[in-house]
Amino acid sequence: MRSFTTFNIQYAHRFYNFKGEAQYLHGHTGILSIEVEDSVNCGVNMVFPCNEIRKIAWDLIRNFDHALILREDDPLLPAVLDVYEHQNIRHGAPTNTMCGPAFHTALATAYPECRLVVTKETMTTEGMIKIVHDLLKDKLNIARITFHSGDNAATEEYCVGAKTMDRCPCCGILFGPDGVCPKCGCRKQ
Ligand SMILES: [Zn+2]
Ligand SMILES: [Zn+2]
Repeated sequence: MRSFTTFNIQYAHRFYNFKGEAQYLHGHTGILSIEVEDSVNCGVNMVFPCNEIRKIAWDLIRNFDHALILREDDPLLPAVLDVYEHQNIRHGAPTNTMCGPAFHTALATAYPECRLVVTKETMTTEGMIKIVHDLLKDKLNIARITFHSGDNAATEEYCVGAKTMDRCPCCGILFGPDGVCPKCGCRKQ
């Protein structure tokens, strides 16, 4: 079965060199849905607690929220960074508190201190799905990711197969590497 949860992400971006309106800087409310597949954990009668999916995913995904997302070769990137430098907000601001841990993958690099994500490819709905899967594939049994942004949407299915994650029978979350539930202290049987 599947458990899924949805995130709202406010962001600005543009499609550099795209022949259409989207080549101009603009913003969206993006809706990201992550579906996790596994057996139903009979202790809690859940595949996975949705608030736990939210916690694991949001830690990284919040770097995209209220952020500017630009492709690495976009000339707006050095221009924006230059303005941020002059304004003294390039390396953080006291009011910028919604920062997740900075990440760097082959597809994207997050600079949470200045609410910027630099991508290798254009950040279309398809591009966002590739980035999110790459960030979370080792943390969750992802079966599908869907992303809506304005009138655009994309979805991708992933084969989970018989892969299962060891979850605590008391609270449904993943056991730690020591085989102990980090929430209730239950030990893996
Ligand atoms: Zn757009
Ligand atoms: Zn537990």
